[in-house]
Amino acid sequence: MSNNILVFIEQREGVILPASFQLLALANDLTGKSGGQAEACVVGEGVGNLTDKIAAQGAKKIYTVDDPELKMYRVVPYTAALCAVIDEADPKTVLIPTTFMGRDLASRVAARKRAALAIDCMEVVLDGDDLVVSRGMYAGKFMGKVRLAKDKLQIATVRSNAYSALDPQDGASADVQAVSAVFTDADKRAKIKEIVSTTSGIKDVTEADIIVAGGRALKSEDNFKIIIEMAELLDGAVGASRAACDSGYQPHSRQVGLTGKVVTPRLYIACGIDGAIQHLAGMRGSKVIVGINTKKDAPIYSVATYGCVADLFEIVPLLTQELKRLAG
Ligand SMILES: Cc1cc2nc3c(=O)[nH]c(=O)nc-3n(C[C@H](O)[C@H](O)[C@H](O)COP(=O)(O)OP(=O)(O)OC[C@H]3O[C@@H](n4cnc5c(N)ncnc54)[C@H](O)[C@@H]3O)c2cc1C
Repeated sequence: MSNNILVFIEQREGVILPASFQLLALANDLTGKSGGQAEACVVGEGVGNLTDKIAAQGAKKIYTVDDPELKMYRVVPYTAALCAVIDEADPKTVLIPTTFMGRDLASRVAARKRAALAIDCMEVVLDGDDLVVSRGMYAGKFMGKVRLAKDKLQIATVRSNAYSALDPQDGASADVQAVSAVFTDADKRAKIKEIVSTTSGIKDVTEADIIVAGGRALKSEDNFKIIIEMAELLDGAVGASRAACDSGYQPHSRQVGLTGKVVTPRLYIACGIDGAIQHLAGMRGSKVIVGINTKKDAPIYSVATYGCVADLFEIVPLLTQELKRLAG
């Protein structure tokens, strides 16, 4: 086993998920201390033209698996592809972004490779030779530290925005190696018939740097317009509590929390959201949290960086007006 760290670069239709570059920065930092090098693996169809971008973000070697079978994400062929790269690269550790794809893929690859696996890590450090990760437990109430077995391949999925990407180095080069994966008939059994997008041009909460979220207090889908307008002005995403989604004010694809999506944006603005433990489980890792709530002892204020005890129907339009003024 080498001392190298392999980063799985998540891409869809040639667009690389920024969290992949954040993990390359982490891999460079860790290999700078332990020896070995930061490597990357990109899987899909026509992914060969992404290698310059990946090299610019600090990958010293890039493995590509380019195959029509990998055009759209399906866990079984992607598992075969990533396992083929692992066999070739023989890394000590594999880092994968914590996304739906990342969670799905990491667990299957770990089972196939009999690897040590930690999902949804917020911190990854070296303690001597040991890889130690921190991850939320009991709906985010506690942080647990997990030491990954040294004699096995180590796989960790890491949350978006837990680390910052390096500044891109234009002209940086990396060795590129094409790896072929062998797909059995069973690997190809699941076919994608149709993809129906549930978002309407607005960013997904897992990809946004800024999220404006609304709760049951919005009272209707129509009233959510004020949340959507502010989110658009901030180039952010719209989030919602489960109560708001269950009431039909927003689609469940925007639900944040234990049974929704886990987000770690730079800024999370919670409007009329009480701050139940199940909601906090999905957003307490945000860098700056703003709570807007009429109830001064609402639990959201226990995690908020800034609290605004006010009626959201007054304060949100005022903030929007101010944002428009600033935008000129
Ligand atoms: C197993 C399980 C899983 C769950 N998973 C999730 C999950 O993933 N995500 C999630 O969000 N919840 C989840 N829940 C539900 C969670 O427990 C709460 O019921 C839910 O988060 C409440 O949503 P809310 O804060 O929008 O509504 P409420 O609890 O009704 O809170 C509304 C808040 O708005 C404030 N308010 C009212 N009017 C205004 C106004 N005009 N201006 C400003 N503030 C106002 C009120 O003071 C109150 O604090 C889960 C529950 C269970 C049991």
